[in-house]
Amino acid sequence: MSKVQEIIEELVTGNRILAREEILDSFGHISVRHPENPNRYLLSRARAPDLIEAEDIITFEMDGTAVDAGERKPYLERYIHGAIFEARPEVQCVIHSHTGSLLPFGVTGWQLKPMAHVGACIGRDVPVWDSEDKFGDTDLLVVNMSMGRDLVKTLGSGNVALMRGHGCAVAGANIRECVFRAIQLDVNARLQKEALGMSQLTGKLKFLTDGEIKAWEKILTPYSWERAWENWCKRANRPYLGQPMI
Ligand code: MN
Repeated sequence: MSKVQEIIEELVTGNRILAREEILDSFGHISVRHPENPNRYLLSRARAPDLIEAEDIITFEMDGTAVDAGERKPYLERYIHGAIFEARPEVQCVIHSHTGSLLPFGVTGWQLKPMAHVGACIGRDVPVWDSEDKFGDTDLLVVNMSMGRDLVKTLGSGNVALMRGHGCAVAGANIRECVFRAIQLDVNARLQKEALGMSQLTGKLKFLTDGEIKAWEKILTPYSWERAWENWCKRANRPYLGQPMI
């Protein structure tokens, strides 16, 4: 199997895991930078993540132009991926999701912050991008590079940005780290909402300290995500292929 074929298999596994863990439903997507050409990325044709096969993966230029789509129809929001890869050379994987647990944080102004120790991987303060600020009344979809690049301004050097009334964008150094982050983002959002309700009774709500977040960032390594990845592969009925390829 070639390097590109291996990455495509890993990307299919990423899609299946995100579907199985209910981060993506019929919508949302995960991409990876092309292993042989850093100016291109790999992303499925427009299809529900749980159904995606290797044959669905299309190669794109950074500006969203499909290189080899043929009759396959691309996702409308592929610009999220190209804009992040374009601005952040160290990013190798991008996930765009509509995970329901995140939506309330994007519309209420209540700050999503790490609360559980593993949740430190989402970053200290998760910013919210509001498409209306620059683009006015739209259908909220990121359908061109101008919108994608504006989202990236909000993402900055972080790895998570919420999208008001829509979902989120998650970046990572490889597919496994990025999937890990997207799943922990959902876990942390649900825990935070639960704790917020209890805090109304106790008057207490303590997030991770800056020092605790920094300490946890040091152990965001394969040691942290490989155990989870192997488990998630089994749950998604996909083979576990050992160490990450990218
Ligand atoms: Mn979307």
